[in-house]
Amino acid sequence: MSDDLLSDAGRRLEAACALSHVSDEALARLRQPAASLKVSIPVRMDDGSLRIFAGYRVRYDSTRGPAKGGIRYHPRVDVDEITTLAFWMTFKTALMDLPFGGGKGGVTVDPKGLSMAELERLSRGYVAAVADSIGPDVDIPAPDVATNELVMGWMADEYGKIRRQAVPTVITGKPLALGGSHGRATATSDGAFHVIDTLRSSLVGDREEPSVAIQGFGNAGANLASSLSDQGYRVVAVSDSSAAVHDADGLEVSALRDHKDETGSLADPPVGRELSQPDDLLELEVDLLIPAALEGAIHDGNAGHVQAGAVVEVANGPVTSAADEILDELGVVVVPDILANAGGVTASWFEWIQNRQGDRWEAEVVAKRLRKRMVRETRAVARVAEERDVPLRSAAYVVALERLGAAMDATGTSAIFSDGGG
Ligand code: GLU
Repeated sequence: MSDDLLSDAGRRLEAACALSHVSDEALARLRQPAASLKVSIPVRMDDGSLRIFAGYRVRYDSTRGPAKGGIRYHPRVDVDEITTLAFWMTFKTALMDLPFGGGKGGVTVDPKGLSMAELERLSRGYVAAVADSIGPDVDIPAPDVATNELVMGWMADEYGKIRRQAVPTVITGKPLALGGSHGRATATSDGAFHVIDTLRSSLVGDREEPSVAIQGFGNAGANLASSLSDQGYRVVAVSDSSAAVHDADGLEVSALRDHKDETGSLADPPVGRELSQPDDLLELEVDLLIPAALEGAIHDGNAGHVQAGAVVEVANGPVTSAADEILDELGVVVVPDILANAGGVTASWFEWIQNRQGDRWEAEVVAKRLRKRMVRETRAVARVAEERDVPLRSAAYVVALERLGAAMDATGTSAIFSDGGG
């Protein structure tokens, strides 16, 4: 599965190259990660036993600045998945024109099977294991699937202990009390909302109360469900790994969020009707389908059943390249992950700047800057898509690749040497 992911990423890179003016040398550099680290993390469990967890940190590219990207905890994490995610981060930071490269980390673990104390020991152990590979000017982690502010706080604290000084700039997505930024926790969904809002007419035409189905009810999915329903969209279905809930008239999102907070899942919901399988949600006839869970949710086996007008990738990599082709033939617009979920890393950049300056921006300042950047880059992608008559994903890759290529070429190309330099 994750090996397919990596070859999928490679296919998208080659396809984007065919559409852009990027040198062969830049392309050669982008075909593999700059550095890849695998670590073993010994953790003392509550019952006294010792477990060894596998952890990873991949720095894909740092030409445009220090690598940037989250750390995920999931049982399916492996080196190919983390490498692919680091590749996507490289394109995401370039697309948003942030002064960063791309990286990613992860631990192969089911966090639901750990106590809080075990989770803390694992998180501190991860940082101890990768401490020499991360740093404020080298590679800056952040939250991702199943990691959050609390985990980032433990990690920042551990890194400070190792360096014997407070280093808030080493990690973003920290709790406010430890140098976090206003707006970071909801930035992924806020960013996705701005992207949807900017593209609204091309996604849903002049529909008054567009219907939405959201797969994934974690941080991004649940917050986006709330903001879309507050802004007049009709959220008709949401799902997590255990259940999908549907109501064609629109769901009361706050009741479902309370239920998920209390019980840990969407099963036996207080409102709406449970669909027989969580993935049935993907086949509903809606205006917007928003996969906000994991990679590969829409693949060649189910893409043909998608009845949505548009798909907005709030997860990383939820639509495979084979599914992309099927959706394209069906006339389903896909808003790509490297744009749709880029609000998170953009607010991470704000946090990093604030930490470097020893400052804290007002919540309104963060919100305004986030909106401005998301709208600007969404318009840039839409413009390229229109000018070159290509799907939004190809356009996003072209914009990112041209920025990456320019940065790489600025460090020197064979043309400089064959011309005799000077
Ligand atoms: N994990 C998020 C992503 O995939 C955020 C990364 C970051 O803030 O560095 O974009």
